Amino acid sequence: MEYISTRGNAPVLDFEGATLAGLASDGGLYVPREWPRFSKDEIAALAGLPYAELAAKVMAPFVGESLSYERLLELTTAAYGRFSHAAVTPLKQLDEQQWLLELFHGPTLAFKDVALQLLGLLFEEFLGRESKNGGPQNLTIVGATSGDTGSAAIDAVAGRAKVDIFMLHPKGRVSDVQRRQMTTVLAPNVYNIAIEGSFDDAQAMVKRIFNDKAVTDRFNIGAVNSINWARLMAQVVYYFAAALQLGAPHREVAFSVPTGNFGDVFAGYVAAQMGLPIARLIVATNVNDILHRALSTGDYSAGTVTPTAAPSMDIQVSSNFERLLFDVGGRDGVALAEQMAGFEANKAMTLTNAQREGAAALFVSARADADEMAQAIRWGWEAAGELLDPHTAIGIHAARNAGIDASTPVVTLATAHPAKFPDAVERSTGHRPGLPERVGDLFEREERYAELPGDYDAVCAYVTQRATAKA
Ligand SMILES: *Cc1c(COP(=O)(O)O)cnc(C)c1O
Repeated sequence: MEYISTRGNAPVLDFEGATLAGLASDGGLYVPREWPRFSKDEIAALAGLPYAELAAKVMAPFVGESLSYERLLELTTAAYGRFSHAAVTPLKQLDEQQWLLELFHGPTLAFKDVALQLLGLLFEEFLGRESKNGGPQNLTIVGATSGDTGSAAIDAVAGRAKVDIFMLHPKGRVSDVQRRQMTTVLAPNVYNIAIEGSFDDAQAMVKRIFNDKAVTDRFNIGAVNSINWARLMAQVVYYFAAALQLGAPHREVAFSVPTGNFGDVFAGYVAAQMGLPIARLIVATNVNDILHRALSTGDYSAGTVTPTAAPSMDIQVSSNFERLLFDVGGRDGVALAEQMAGFEANKAMTLTNAQREGAAALFVSARADADEMAQAIRWGWEAAGELLDPHTAIGIHAARNAGIDASTPVVTLATAHPAKFPDAVERSTGHRPGLPERVGDLFEREERYAELPGDYDAVCAYVTQRATAKA
């Protein structure tokens, strides 16, 4: 399997190379040259497999020659062995049509664990091998987090040899649980940075580091954000897991996905390209609704970010949307590079007709404001006895209002455990969700993090003074 950049001007890489590279050198994102496709019979044969085995089977075509099937299965078995539920991503019924896919049974209580627990193991595997072959000896991970990526990535790489991680979070804009899950990890290879500004500002800074030749000449910079293809690949698996339980390949299923950076829902698009019968992908946003506007009117223009009770969706620039625009726009890297340069200059662009029509074939979108989110939390509690976190509630709001045919099951991805956002849940239901035992004494532990201004030179200096340089 070969990986190409959405902007058409970066080296073609195999899976190992794309995993270690993160962002492509032309500023684009890596995508498989073509989508692997499963026949109906092949999909039917996946029903009932244990999650780790399903994961290895779904991912094997993307991994190509980079890992043997046996080794891949060892890694998925190790990664998903750390989840607290035997099903890894259990499916729950809420009413006759609505279902919940619980993705928060990993160590840091959000769906990001599903991909990052595996990515940590892939880094270790590939770096060990590359250093033998004269490739990169170590990796400096630089990431920005709206809360959940940071904790999941830190948990996945803390204490691992050959990897340093620098994680930027927007100061004061992540929940206490989210912050503590990052800042109480005191392993010497973990550097947390609270930075002034919004998540988008932090993410822009990370992108700049990736494109700063003075940095990339000295360090192997790696990504754990969903610009890293391996993350999306791992997320494709649970679409299969859920749809198979609801009758795929013989029955269509719709998914509602609380969306920020468009990574999770793009994994659903990939599952559909592979042959999974997905009726609709519902892109659920909060008031930071650039994706809702882009999908409903073609207007992809970034407003200012409004902080909400669902901080992991407080995003105006959705990196992975570029992957969709590339695929539905005819896979023309040169044209897309021009379009994205226009967006970067003007913070606005209009989708082409081909992009709009291509997206409309599968995606619909919906937006929930603060009241609608609170109502959805209440509905979950009163109608189904489930405490929903604010992100998941936005997905439920969209799922119940998307006009999906009553005969099609709608699965909302439950992206975070309610205890990660206890205040919003308590306000709507009167019930305060307790932290599961596996997170232990989070509020007693010592925190450690740097505070930096929203200034590129300050961040760059902080990273380069502490990271391990290329050998
Ligand atoms: C990251 C995150 C999202 C958004 O996912 P994307 O892949 O960025 O679209 C939604 N909900 C929660 C809880 C998250 O952590």
